[in-house]
Amino acid sequence: MTLLPSLDIAATRLPGYGDARLRDSYGRAITDLRVSITDRCNFRCVYCRTGNEGAQYAELSHADYLRMIRLFVSLGVEKIRLTGGEPLLRQGAVELVREIAQLRTVFTETPEPLDIALTTNGHLLAGLAQPLRDAGLTRVTVSMDAVDAETFTAITRVPRSFDRVLAGIRAAGAAGLGPVKVNCVLLRGFNDSQIEAFAEFSRREGVIVRFIEWMPLEETPAAGSGRSWSREAVVSLDEIVARLDAYQPEGLGISGLVELPANAASETARRYTFADGRGEIGIIAPVSRPFCGHCSRVRLTSDGKIRTCLFSQMDHDLAGRMVRGASDAALSEYIRHVVEKKEARHHIGEPGFEKPSRSMVHIGG
Ligand code: SAM
Repeated sequence: MTLLPSLDIAATRLPGYGDARLRDSYGRAITDLRVSITDRCNFRCVYCRTGNEGAQYAELSHADYLRMIRLFVSLGVEKIRLTGGEPLLRQGAVELVREIAQLRTVFTETPEPLDIALTTNGHLLAGLAQPLRDAGLTRVTVSMDAVDAETFTAITRVPRSFDRVLAGIRAAGAAGLGPVKVNCVLLRGFNDSQIEAFAEFSRREGVIVRFIEWMPLEETPAAGSGRSWSREAVVSLDEIVARLDAYQPEGLGISGLVELPANAASETARRYTFADGRGEIGIIAPVSRPFCGHCSRVRLTSDGKIRTCLFSQMDHDLAGRMVRGASDAALSEYIRHVVEKKEARHHIGEPGFEKPSRSMVHIGG
């Protein structure tokens, strides 16, 4: 099968990019805000260091997050993703979703509700899926790096968690938050044997499985796996596609992946299904196929700092300005100023690459 042509990896700086909508200096409209509402986590995934050090950064009040979100929305953000740490550990997450659901888009023809998504490890999802849906959550992504309980425990280092996560995924689907996306980071020699089993899982459970290339976000080797990040340890898009293309799903009788069109230009995943259209596999390939040229994202850390790229070397202290009494106008000006300087692209795999100044759990995945 043939792959789509490679997306451009970097943006080109534009001379006149100024309009009212939030844009960076490369003309990329910033429509997607990821907000970490805690950097605490109840899993200790081997490659994420989560739980090894515990929380490092402060959490803000919901009112503070809401004020910052409202400012971003007034500048053109249309999609909010709550993340962490583990966002469902944060008391009042449902109420926060309810408040965000009151906001409306500003740069559409008519004001529309926001797209409100959540990235979670799923451990607490079973009991919260319906309340979250009722509060206005539109989508949920569950991180799950194995479809068998033993490998899952070896990665998360939390016993008996697999069944809870599975129950969470099913509850989310039943609550109307489907199709649920299930994100899996593959580490060579650790869980890459699960690729075909994940395809079956997608077909059986009616979820979208998305494989994410492992990114160099940590200083130390992935605990327990004995591996540091290296290009060789990354299970690349090409490899995943080749494996699944050769795979014959149970009961189907033929092998072969079918490529699906992208949902939007800024979509990070290449999408595939099988000959009968059952199951959907996405592959997010920040290492082998960077998609920075289409990036529409910025992040807010749990302590209220703006990060313009996952791989940024510095944060920008929005919350600090709020605490010191800055007006909404001054904060909006600051956001524009910071976003204008958004990096063109990341430099994974290039000489001189520097790891980001925070690890994923402290940035907000
Ligand atoms: N606790 C929530 C969860 O598990 O989804 C949200 C935070 S978690 C840091 C978000 C995502 O980041 C998870 O899917 C995790 O697998 C992913 N992640 C962490 N470190 C990563 C890395 N080095 N490369 C790629 N993805 C990573």
